[in-house]
Amino acid sequence: MAEERRFDVACCGEMSDLTQPKDATRATLEAQARLAASLPPEDGADLERARKGFIDTLPHARIENAKGWPAWDLTPFAFQADGEVCPPTVNPSLWRQAQLNLNHGLFQVTEGIYQVRGFDLSNITFVEGDEGFIVIDPLTSAEPAAAALALMRKHRGDKPVSAVIYTHSHVDHYGGVKGVLTDADIAGGARIVAPEGFLAEAVSENVLAGNVMNRRATYMYGALLPRGPRGHVDSGLGKAVSGGQVSLIAPTESISKTGTRLTLDGVEIVFQVTPGTEAPAEMNFFFPRHKALCMAENCTCQLHNLYTRAGPRCATPRRGVSISTRRSTCSPRTPRCCSPATTGRAGAPRTRSRSWRPRATSTSSSTTRP
Ligand SMILES: [Zn+2]
Repeated sequence: MAEERRFDVACCGEMSDLTQPKDATRATLEAQARLAASLPPEDGADLERARKGFIDTLPHARIENAKGWPAWDLTPFAFQADGEVCPPTVNPSLWRQAQLNLNHGLFQVTEGIYQVRGFDLSNITFVEGDEGFIVIDPLTSAEPAAAALALMRKHRGDKPVSAVIYTHSHVDHYGGVKGVLTDADIAGGARIVAPEGFLAEAVSENVLAGNVMNRRATYMYGALLPRGPRGHVDSGLGKAVSGGQVSLIAPTESISKTGTRLTLDGVEIVFQVTPGTEAPAEMNFFFPRHKALCMAENCTCQLHNLYTRAGPRCATPRRGVSISTRRSTCSPRTPRCCSPATTGRAGAPRTRSRSWRPRATSTSSSTTRP
């Protein structure tokens, strides 16, 4: 501590408390102003997309665990509600993203496909099968995943979960699996599908290096900072990682080849494997019946995981873009909707792509900003 203080005095000429939030300096104000001037005019289109298909939600998306503690709660983010002006301490682009990310609840992506957003860092997607729901990416922890499933059942029927798909090996896409699958489901042979290498990558990042990752992620996301314009604002993909029970159930089926076709609960799915992109084990997939494409986190509207201080392997954007825009058995030319796995502003029209026609729409396991 004494050494840190000496460093502080030497660098700044006076003692300052590094633990206290400060107002923006003149350099920061100038940088924010330059960025704001460089942004395209706000036309409201992204907000419209973020709200498209909205059905229902929970008040403030507050979800409690068995002891009554909040595993998730958006109440502290009221300071960034729609209409609030960007404070001088916040990057204007981040502020815009934060306001978009404040839209939460159950949304219809297209007929037969629904998504719950804003209940965690990532999105959870439900596809209606013949007998039940196929769940894609059951969030980071069980409580938010269970709350999302309950919301889906409230509006689309009290049906069982017939299968689960993990798009990739990051914990916010599988950690809540025990919130959607019961022990009886598992014993009954529930199908869980993941890209080849999923389990080894998930364990190496989140178990073997788990403590280190957790500590680094705490700094990266600013999870312990108070929510506010001089504290935690947003994490790009979503607000933050949820705080419930994290779980992992091993996949029962692995996808290793692009073009693989599976039928889950009567729904045909065509897979495109994308290893070494946003995650070491990741895949996109297409639903011919719905003309809908899930882009995992290979397609998000921010610079996700280009350099992550939390510790997972960094994304390789060139490879991700190359694979995601490649025409293949999994990417027919006329998808009607495309959904990433994070604040997937599912349903956002895709307007620029070499191998896709305009008018296709998009849904992701994460967030927006075209
Ligand atoms: Zn990811």
